[in-house]
Amino acid sequence: QLQILKESASLPAVTQDGKEILLFGNVGKAEDAAHACQMGAAGIGLFRTEFLYMKHDELPTEEDQFEAYKAAAEALQGNPVIIRTMDIGGDKELKCLQLPKEMNPFLGFRAIRISLDRTDIFKTQLRAILRASVFGGIQIMYPMIASVEEVKAANAVLATAKDELRAEGIAFNKDIQVGIMVEIPAVAVAADLFAPHVDFFSIGTNDLCQYTLAVDRMNEAIGHLYQPLHPAVLRLVKHTIEASHDVKKITGMCGELAGDPVATMILIGLGLDEFSMSASAIPVVKNIIRSVTVAECEAMAQKVLTMSAAGDIVAYAKAVLAEKG
Ligand code: PEP
Ligand code: MG
Repeated sequence: QLQILKESASLPAVTQDGKEILLFGNVGKAEDAAHACQMGAAGIGLFRTEFLYMKHDELPTEEDQFEAYKAAAEALQGNPVIIRTMDIGGDKELKCLQLPKEMNPFLGFRAIRISLDRTDIFKTQLRAILRASVFGGIQIMYPMIASVEEVKAANAVLATAKDELRAEGIAFNKDIQVGIMVEIPAVAVAADLFAPHVDFFSIGTNDLCQYTLAVDRMNEAIGHLYQPLHPAVLRLVKHTIEASHDVKKITGMCGELAGDPVATMILIGLGLDEFSMSASAIPVVKNIIRSVTVAECEAMAQKVLTMSAAGDIVAYAKAVLAEKG
């Protein structure tokens, strides 16, 4: 088993007809980056930084964060490491920051909204990321973006952080790539308006699905209504990918759907460039990528886009997979 895993890890994620797919891992801690590589990740598509804010009673210092980001960058040996700025608030309770109790935490004060309000905390994080960027392929990603103004405001804080480091004579990658999560339907719908302002998109299907379908992702009573392969979600995914390609940029996906083997062929068919998932999902998804052609995936995606029910789409995708063995 271990031998098979090791062999799979070193094989490229290339389709039968030669299209290379970026197959990345999601991590919550720097220490998990090496494991993701062992499982075959060619990069980190989502480094969730919440843990740094949740583990202590106090806010993490620039130095704490720098060490963590640097460790991840070094573990990836120059391959991409997409660090998502803090996605705290909402349902995630913190000891280091008093946040008001809210009626609708998922629609409330969280993620980039906190960062743009507490620019002191945000700038500290950006400085740490920038400082670590000379140790590997670090990129920055903003969570829960809803408007182009937010992208610009976040980039303004980033510019200030860069200015400070420059004045202090501290090295950083001045061409660091900056992307956004596409997890609020507004961004997917208007993706063409956002694409010129970012280097890449990464679709967060966990939140995109919850907001598109108005289904709380934590509520088991309505779990059956939580359908990432719902036609509306797929249309948003398709539109996002096309908008990025129109301006020669790439779209990845770091929500759970990216690691679901049932979705792999459909997502290749829609043109998804990068898949990021928990390390354990990588071998199976890679195996599918290596056994299909883009042409058959495109045909499948075309057919799926005509279907009106998530249940039909799932059943069809499962049947195709079963037929392939
Ligand atoms: C998502 O929303 O799909 C995502 C990857 O972010 P998180 O699960 O951390 O909200
Ligand atoms: Mg999310």
